[in-house]
Amino acid sequence: MVTTYTIASGKGGTGKTTLSVNLGTILASYGRETYIMDADMGMANLGILLGLENVPVTLHEVLAGKAPVSEAIYEGPSGVKVVPSGISLQGFQNADPELLRDVMKEIVNQCDFLIIDAPAGISRDGVIPLAIADEVILVVNPELSSMVDALKTKILTELIGGHVMGAILNRATLENTEVSVHKIEEVLGVKVIGLVPEDPNVRRSAAYKTPIVVKYPSSPASIEIKKIAAKIAGVE
Ligand code: ADP
Ligand code: MG
Repeated sequence: MVTTYTIASGKGGTGKTTLSVNLGTILASYGRETYIMDADMGMANLGILLGLENVPVTLHEVLAGKAPVSEAIYEGPSGVKVVPSGISLQGFQNADPELLRDVMKEIVNQCDFLIIDAPAGISRDGVIPLAIADEVILVVNPELSSMVDALKTKILTELIGGHVMGAILNRATLENTEVSVHKIEEVLGVKVIGLVPEDPNVRRSAAYKTPIVVKYPSSPASIEIKKIAAKIAGVE
């Protein structure tokens, strides 16, 4: 059974953290034990989105060998378990991304789903989450540059033995944009498993430190994110 999904994109700001938090929250709401882990250790903002920015122990301390994983697990909405990274640069410097695989193994033993929020780019800490997940999901915005970066991420994932399950087109608008679902499927060679619209309630919910699927459950982005979660959980 597929347990671990890494949400990746290549390009920054495509919506990886937003989708990680919201997909994780919905999966947990099905009663499935779900963890979200912030592997964007340099620019950690998963914790910020959930109001966990001031917690004492984070993934940084775990990856520095200073704390067990159990101390870096916090409860989020719908009972989703959250492993945030810290926001200090010092903490990032001390964290060894090579230990991520061990942390993952420990978490996987106690859950149905683990969602890993990956960093942008192809640095060492960015590559490891692509290799360790059962499946990688690419987040693409309707821009050519975003698709090109996603393609690089897909090639890299496969080079290091990972597997890309599909792509999510996020921030889709009704206008004719450079990139369509068809184009993404053709260029990336993977299925588009969801199309999440541009939705001002995404930002609004962030201000409340609450996932949009909780704060505005009938908002257009929430409806589409729920469909993707249902596909992942096989509850369609
Ligand atoms: P990443 O983790 O890939 O860097 P984020 O999830 O932090 O991206 O999102 C980047 C910005 O885009 C945030 O300000 C977020 O609120 C906004 N955003 C993401 N998805 C949407 C959407 N579907 N509609 C509107 N704004 C969005
Ligand atoms: Mg992010």
